[in-house]
Amino acid sequence: MYRLEMQDVPATGTGRLDGLEVRADACALFIDIDGTLLDMAPTPDAVQVPPGLVATLTDLSDTFGGAVALITGRRVADADRFFAPLKLAVSGVHGAEARNGRDGGTALLAGLVPDGLTAAVRDVAKARPGILVEDKGSGLAVHYRNAPEQRTALKLELGRALGPWKGFAVRTGRKVIDIVPKAHSKATGLAWLMTLPEFQGRRPIMIGDDHGDEPAIRAAERLGGIGLTVAGEHFTPERADFMTPASVRCWLASLCPP
Ligand SMILES: [Mg+2]
Repeated sequence: MYRLEMQDVPATGTGRLDGLEVRADACALFIDIDGTLLDMAPTPDAVQVPPGLVATLTDLSDTFGGAVALITGRRVADADRFFAPLKLAVSGVHGAEARNGRDGGTALLAGLVPDGLTAAVRDVAKARPGILVEDKGSGLAVHYRNAPEQRTALKLELGRALGPWKGFAVRTGRKVIDIVPKAHSKATGLAWLMTLPEFQGRRPIMIGDDHGDEPAIRAAERLGGIGLTVAGEHFTPERADFMTPASVRCWLASLCPP
């Protein structure tokens, strides 16, 4: 079993964790993957799942009656690959796809990205070395981790390329620019998951590290819940509840019975 001692948890900035009661029979957990549950890596596929984390998440899901979900910009299939054999409830591609509860089927909540838009985005990327375009079905991710200096120009050009496709929006993340259906977000993903039987009536706790997690944090708050943040490029240590993904993992492990 993956365990850290509580003294390994760095001091938190906001005090939101102090005295926070997380009842396993009354709360639901929503956890972003990159930069929250897993440490950031140079490429999307290079992320490492620490030994024991799958066992901790399985234990956590059992403890919370299945009310533990991943909320990510990645595809549901990616989450499955990382955490196999565990299949948690997932909101993927910024709310555009979802797994219908633990071990449930995957629902596509938005249409596929039109070929013309994919081609236009690939054209923008082709002219810039080090840029990686990832096709996520209902969305596209343009990764610039290996060419961070291109961020501003890339965002501008992608905004222009998006012109004719009014149903899509550009969303910025950590070393990634996502092209996603405008009607979907991590907030709509969280709200969709909250309608599932395992989640209904529970108090949502959303944990995230990035700009794209903010709408989901606000959605959790609107539903009577709370958002917890991880320090990084988006949240400063002063604004964050956790300093690192390791401290998130440690806290999650502490919610499981000994
Ligand atoms: Mg993240």
